Amino acid sequence: METIIEFENVNVSFSMREGTVKAVRDVSLSIPKGKVTALVGESGSGKSTLASTLLRMVSAPGKISAKSIQVDGQDVMAMSEKKLRHYRWSEVSMVFQAAQNSLNPVVTIGEQFIETYQAHRKESDKKVIEKRAIELLEYVKLEPKRVLRSYPHELSGGMKQRVMIAFSLLLEPKVVILDEPTTALDVITQDSIFSILQKINDEFGITLLLLSHDIAVVAKVADYLGVMYAGKIVEFDEIYTIFEQPKHPYTQGLLRAVPSLIHDLGKIKPIPGASPNLLDLPSGCPFHPRCEYAMSHCKTIEPELKRSKDGYIPACHLFDHERKEAALTK
Ligand code: SF4
Repeated sequence: METIIEFENVNVSFSMREGTVKAVRDVSLSIPKGKVTALVGESGSGKSTLASTLLRMVSAPGKISAKSIQVDGQDVMAMSEKKLRHYRWSEVSMVFQAAQNSLNPVVTIGEQFIETYQAHRKESDKKVIEKRAIELLEYVKLEPKRVLRSYPHELSGGMKQRVMIAFSLLLEPKVVILDEPTTALDVITQDSIFSILQKINDEFGITLLLLSHDIAVVAKVADYLGVMYAGKIVEFDEIYTIFEQPKHPYTQGLLRAVPSLIHDLGKIKPIPGASPNLLDLPSGCPFHPRCEYAMSHCKTIEPELKRSKDGYIPACHLFDHERKEAALTK
């Protein structure tokens, strides 16, 4: 499998008055090239923070430390500020959560396209930029002429999200990150956003990284799924494999909590307990206070996600034998 993103021993911490929040803890993971990968987990699991490290853009007082973060062979951690300015949005772009609200309310969409383009490229011919904006707006199924003349408040939430997706493609990046791309949109708009994302991936081969708290929603479009808990990836595999046979008890819990139209709603079983406090994580496996399979050593030894010849072995002591076998076959 060809990969485009390589996280190696990535950590992100925030020093607060109350202590240090370890939002991302020693993540090592490869993301396949040209595919759609979804990272899911409850809020505070670290998915957005991990994705932000691809742009080296963690909000203050966050600090990234990593052996390396590679995107298409370039080490993001080693880039100068000048190189980073060019790299952001040209190589990797990100549509932040509720990004529609980040559109400038007093500037038309057309002017915002021109400003964004000129901030990153030397192109100053407004006609060329407008032509590109029209192509992209048509691509995301919007009426370009009307939208370019509009101010953000004249567009619906779904239209603004499509505008943000068009913005993310403006500089032809290799990777687009979308944080909760359909939250707060109705189901019909959600479907149309997902079909646009699928088309972007199929036709341009752009690698998409979707971040969501909703495992069922991203299943519509993702090829691969990573599950995050307390700042770590606990399971990573092809999405169908995970849906057919989830291994990590947390992944099993997430899937049991998904409502279904055809099954008895009474069978939905939420995961007991609450997400851990990142300032004071439980000892050992951070999921142990909520896990129905917890064993005594789960309280003292934290399991790690391990690479194997077939992919990854989940970060759970129930799979220690697989880890031992994988180590022996090396
Ligand atoms: Fe549960 Fe133990 Fe696995 Fe953690 S390591 S998920 S507590 S069985």
